Amino acid sequence: MSPDLPPAFVDRMQDRFPAGESTDFFQSLNGIAPVSVQLHPKKGEGLGANFPNVPWYSRGRYLAKRPIFTLDPLFQSGAYYVQEASSMFVAWLVQQLQPQNQPLRALDLCAAPGGKSCLLASNLPEGSLLIANEVIRSRAGILRYNLAKWGLDNCWTTSLDPEAFAPLGPFFDLILVDAPCSGEGLFRKDPAARDEWSTELVRQCAARQARILRAAVPLLRPGGILIYSTCTYNAAENLQQIALLEEEFGLPQVQPIPPTEWGIETSQGGYQFYPH
Ligand code: SAM
Repeated sequence: MSPDLPPAFVDRMQDRFPAGESTDFFQSLNGIAPVSVQLHPKKGEGLGANFPNVPWYSRGRYLAKRPIFTLDPLFQSGAYYVQEASSMFVAWLVQQLQPQNQPLRALDLCAAPGGKSCLLASNLPEGSLLIANEVIRSRAGILRYNLAKWGLDNCWTTSLDPEAFAPLGPFFDLILVDAPCSGEGLFRKDPAARDEWSTELVRQCAARQARILRAAVPLLRPGGILIYSTCTYNAAENLQQIALLEEEFGLPQVQPIPPTEWGIETSQGGYQFYPH
């Protein structure tokens, strides 16, 4: 059985929704997380034809239940990657923001274990380069392994502190900062995340995210795209980081609006995926 949700988290989230909706939110946090996979553009062709599509990603599928993936040769050979559907939204954004299909220099700055790097590698225009970076050495191995298994030849891995990229200057057309965060979005599938969460952790994560963003912005070429994402709900780690990009660096926010029926909240700036 999962530990209770942290009371300070419950207080904060209660204020965010109208009464009925907060009940739905808390109930789904205590429910079972759906399982979804992104299919490899070549090795995954024709797989999962009978499974529902992730609305925003044509190669995303919801599974009916969670199999033992490690026993599946298709998983082991990189025909698909197990990934939250919300993560696949990054592919839709790239498509919306770079419709001209020119080769891009892309940097995935916080990349391990590599789900979004696989997604980017599969969806960047032909001739693009992806650098997938993971600063924590002990996590860089799984990133390398997952990208090798995925097997596309448009990406390289590095294991550097974000500030170590500074000598490159404004080199990248596209930067993804999928930041380390307090993990409120993991409360459903990982009970340990509930124990680790605290308001102090939120504060520390927000400070680290600001450091990472300050290192990322100078690497962006004029007119380039920076995508910032977390798997947490609070404003300090989301909206306040976006405010920092606008106030400190004058980066304008661009927000393609997805179809309403996808159920993604866009009203507060950025995109919020709630489990309900
Ligand atoms: N993008 C990944 C994916 O889709 O599989 C998940 C990334 S995870 C949310 C954040 C990553 O940032 C972790 O692998 C973590 O080790 C890394 N990280 C931790 N501290 C960091 C720092 N100071 N700078 C950059 N990355 C950091």
